[in-house]
Amino acid sequence: MADIVFRNVTKRYGKTLAVDDASFAVNDNEFFCFFGPPLSGKSTILRLVLGLETPDAGEILIGGRPVNTMSPAERNVAMVFQNLALFPHMSALDNVRFPLVERRVAEVEIKRRVADVAAKLHIGHILHKPPGQLSGGERQRVAIARALVRDPNAYLMDDPISALDARLREETRVELKRIQRELGKTLIYVTHDQEEAMSVADRIAILEDGRIRQIGAPAEIYDRPASTYVARLLGSPMMNILKSARGEAGVEAADGTIRIADKAAPTDAVEIGLRPEDIKVRPWLIEADGGSGRPARVFEVEPLGGYTVVTLAAGQARLKALLRGQPDIRPDAMVAISCEPARVHYFGQSGGALAR
Ligand code: ADP
Ligand code: MG
Repeated sequence: MADIVFRNVTKRYGKTLAVDDASFAVNDNEFFCFFGPPLSGKSTILRLVLGLETPDAGEILIGGRPVNTMSPAERNVAMVFQNLALFPHMSALDNVRFPLVERRVAEVEIKRRVADVAAKLHIGHILHKPPGQLSGGERQRVAIARALVRDPNAYLMDDPISALDARLREETRVELKRIQRELGKTLIYVTHDQEEAMSVADRIAILEDGRIRQIGAPAEIYDRPASTYVARLLGSPMMNILKSARGEAGVEAADGTIRIADKAAPTDAVEIGLRPEDIKVRPWLIEADGGSGRPARVFEVEPLGGYTVVTLAAGQARLKALLRGQPDIRPDAMVAISCEPARVHYFGQSGGALAR
């Protein structure tokens, strides 16, 4: 059992509230991700779990046991540091064995654990090679194996793959996700990359200035962001957020950019949020013929292969729409834009989400 619980944990550095009254419960075997901008408190939370910092207030439990006064060694939580580089002069096998040899683990036990982790990572056949003879992806797997060969209660990773190039990052995060599932270990993972957080995590905690703003499964947070802050943080292109006003048909953007015939729209909505993929774009001529779309001018078109980002000038606003494939849309064309009421997000005075 290695669930990890924070109860109202606060950590200050001088006047800085690095972690502000944080409460969460990471389940045993869960892939739990902290996501937030730089300086939002992600690394401090990991250091608190590890025991490198003590909280000013609140309680931390690992596997049901309070650990506030326990040393890092007693907590038996492993931090996988940013640098996953291998020792170039050692074989892959010696790299993987290294943490156990260093801890003077018995040879029989080393053999058993290395065989176990090698099987799970599918690296048995390359263990005799030096890192120089491995592909980039193979090197990453060996590096991960070396990190996982200890048998701790939980693993912590602080932005472990941010230094890799984009392609290797994509490969490695898939490996990490599969490995975590197969090992069945609790993993707390920190990233500042929204796509990485969405793709790997069972659940994500969103941080802002040391405060946890929302916790949930990636799809849940994406579909029901609790605030404009969270809504802007997840999704690319970012959610369009417009000042809202009441119209005859329901709600509309204050400047008439878009109209939503939503009788159920909350009356206290101050802003409306529209995901780029939820904005429908049609040729204006067809829509002018009695459709409900509002006119917009195509400002710029970015074809990205499988989909296309269209920036629209509508009223006073710039909106981004995400369209599938490579539609025949040119800059300066007039189009009609609309959005299904069910896809609209409503936000109140302080940016909090409102129920429909
Ligand atoms: P993140 O990992 O999200 O970038 P950190 O946890 O490193 O954020 O930092 C959170 C806040 O605490 C920041 O304002 C940072 O400047 C401050 N902080 C972190 N570590 C220290 C420290 N050792 N001394 C003073 N301030 C710190
Ligand atoms: Mg950090």
